Amino acid sequence: MPDDQTSVAAHSANADMPVFAVEVRGLDKLYRAKGRGEDIHALADVDLEIPRGSLFGLLGPNGAGKSTLINILAGLVNKSGGTAKIWGYDIEAQSRQSRSAIGVVPQELNIDPFFTPRELLELQAGLYGVPPRERRSDEILGALGLADKAKSYARTLSGGMRRRLMVAKAMVHNPPVLVLDEPTAGVDIAFRQQLWGHVRELNRLGTTILLTTHYLEEAEALCDRIAIIDHGRVIACDTTQSLLKRLDSKDLTLVLGNDLDTVPTALAEFNAELTGPRRLVFHYRPSQSPVPDILRAVAASGLQVMDLSTEETDLEDIFLQLTRGAHDPRPGNGKRESGR
Ligand code: ADP
Ligand code: MG
Repeated sequence: MPDDQTSVAAHSANADMPVFAVEVRGLDKLYRAKGRGEDIHALADVDLEIPRGSLFGLLGPNGAGKSTLINILAGLVNKSGGTAKIWGYDIEAQSRQSRSAIGVVPQELNIDPFFTPRELLELQAGLYGVPPRERRSDEILGALGLADKAKSYARTLSGGMRRRLMVAKAMVHNPPVLVLDEPTAGVDIAFRQQLWGHVRELNRLGTTILLTTHYLEEAEALCDRIAIIDHGRVIACDTTQSLLKRLDSKDLTLVLGNDLDTVPTALAEFNAELTGPRRLVFHYRPSQSPVPDILRAVAASGLQVMDLSTEETDLEDIFLQLTRGAHDPRPGNGKRESGR
């Protein structure tokens, strides 16, 4: 990106800046049922701290409460309880300041097709009360790779360009915090990579980014910190690195030729479990116990292997593991007599 564009989203640190770009405490949201339906507890006692400058992923399946959380931060949905601050400003007591500190790219694409990107940014800047001499529409369009489309009708833009235009719109008031709600849901790989590049660049220039996704690999590739949310609760929140370490787990199932009633002691160190007389399951960490080591130990203990299969941990398993309890998250572990 050329130097003359680097003022886009430049929020270099100074002493007045908050440690946390977003700080959420005990946030609660109850959607009251209309008529005979049931109330929906979309957020339950959510605590979240998003350090200034981070690229933070809010990861969770559909219906987890991600959009609800974001819409509360954006001032679009009223919370039922708890507090939230953006850039140190309370969303309730200091709503004007908190709203000007955040830019939100909503999940749904809504762009008026009869305006040009530049016109749309100018309109948005007007809505946010940015004085004309402080507007940087062309600069922002440049930063998002839309400079040569500044004067084309929005309806002529591809889906990927429209999404980038939405990001540009969210940036007109130069908010220090940018929120993207499922920015790549349903888009192709090439576009996903391209948007990731832009998001990384905005983050590098100082914007704190919060993005929601239900793609584990998106959070993994992009975010330095991840919170996992499920049924309105935060079930894990950590740096991507330490989270992945916890998720470093796979199952290897062996079907044996003869019955066993206990796990051979030689295999105990591999965290094996008998799930049937002829079915031995290893819950292992690929980074620590490579499969060949396990198979060598199996061969050495004289077991006859008829069949074998492995299973990756996916997002679903991770949720299961995490909701089972923090210290011993492996499935089936509660049934075992003793640890290693
Ligand atoms: P996500 O963005 O993670 O998919 P949402 O925040 O959209 O999750 O939804 C969380 C839960 O709240 C879901 O059960 C959803 O059906 C419900 N919900 C979301 N918006 C509303 C609403 N306006 N009225 C009632 N229920 C809602
Ligand atoms: Mg959503």
